[in-house]
Amino acid sequence: MESARNSTLGKRHGVIDAIETRVIDVPIKRPHSFATSTMTTQSYLLVTVKTADGLLGYGEGVTPGGPWWGGESVETMQQMVDRYFAPALLGHSVFDLNTALAELDRCSGQSRFAKSAIEMALWDSYAKAVDSSLCRLLGGRITDGVPVRWALAGASIDGDVSEAIHFLEGGLANSFKIKGGRLSPADEVARARAITEALEGRADVLIDLNNCWDLPTALRFGPQLIDVGISVLEQPIERWNLSGLTQLKALGIPLMADESLLTPQDAIALWHHQCVDFLALKLAKSGGIQANRDIAAIARSTGLQIYFGTFMESSLGIAAFLAFAQTLPEPALGGELFGGLWLREEYVTSPVEYRNGRVYANSSLGHGMTPDKRAVERLSRRTVTTI
Ligand code: MG
Repeated sequence: MESARNSTLGKRHGVIDAIETRVIDVPIKRPHSFATSTMTTQSYLLVTVKTADGLLGYGEGVTPGGPWWGGESVETMQQMVDRYFAPALLGHSVFDLNTALAELDRCSGQSRFAKSAIEMALWDSYAKAVDSSLCRLLGGRITDGVPVRWALAGASIDGDVSEAIHFLEGGLANSFKIKGGRLSPADEVARARAITEALEGRADVLIDLNNCWDLPTALRFGPQLIDVGISVLEQPIERWNLSGLTQLKALGIPLMADESLLTPQDAIALWHHQCVDFLALKLAKSGGIQANRDIAAIARSTGLQIYFGTFMESSLGIAAFLAFAQTLPEPALGGELFGGLWLREEYVTSPVEYRNGRVYANSSLGHGMTPDKRAVERLSRRTVTTI
């Protein structure tokens, strides 16, 4: 068996001869409100790396509903991959992953979301080329699945509370995050109080303000949020204001960096300023798995705690994230990775599973997710590009 496998591997060269991208629009179950936008559909960039000897690797590009978070959208990602990244990678072998990743580093600049999408497809291809699951390739898992923290982003407090109880009692999530920043600060505190009182003793609740407050507002209302039972404030002020975060931390407020953490160098700066407790890791904002491994290593080396954030990936992006996340000790606050609960349908054949408040992926080869051709065709925008 082993010799037959080695014989097959020996014949493979893994040379990339085509890279296809397509934009997929997936309806969601309920409108999802951020500080600056409301979503009714989630869009993905599906990247397929094809090798001359028949391997197919899949990657997913995603943003939270457009460029407001990081300046990229699925449309800009498609342009970057089609026009710049794909031509740079054609002719490379997926067996030489580090060479391909260095080539991506050379040509991707600050387009980290786009880079993450194609990087995911390269990792999937490489794992398949060596007949391994991606998680095993990354050293193997030390946790089975990760805990799910659901985002409360509905139109009313009553709706958020009943949704939270539904998710708790259904074993779909074990903790919650309020999407803040839309209301006045006083109303934000009142909303937080209502939700934490309804969930008292049952679930942890943090709040994500998506850098909507200025520093004086955060200094005044941040302690009030902690007083009403919020455990952690995620990114209350602008990403660049590390000294402001230091002032907030001095008030005893537990803080998480999301927008302030894009690169491994950002993680070093956050540690240097001693201004946060938690780092929200996401594949897309940092350029993929490689950069997130670097950030996790910095966290491990400095005592900062990690957390797994989300841009509402589908099962494909979640499975790739899980392949990496399960190689790390379980974070105290868990993670989000709830996209599979939020989409009306999926575009893969065997989606991730949610049970006991955790998310799991079956992944024996690569990241384990294969696009469902009929769903992809039905949900795809008309533009399909092959380079
Ligand atoms: Mg956030």
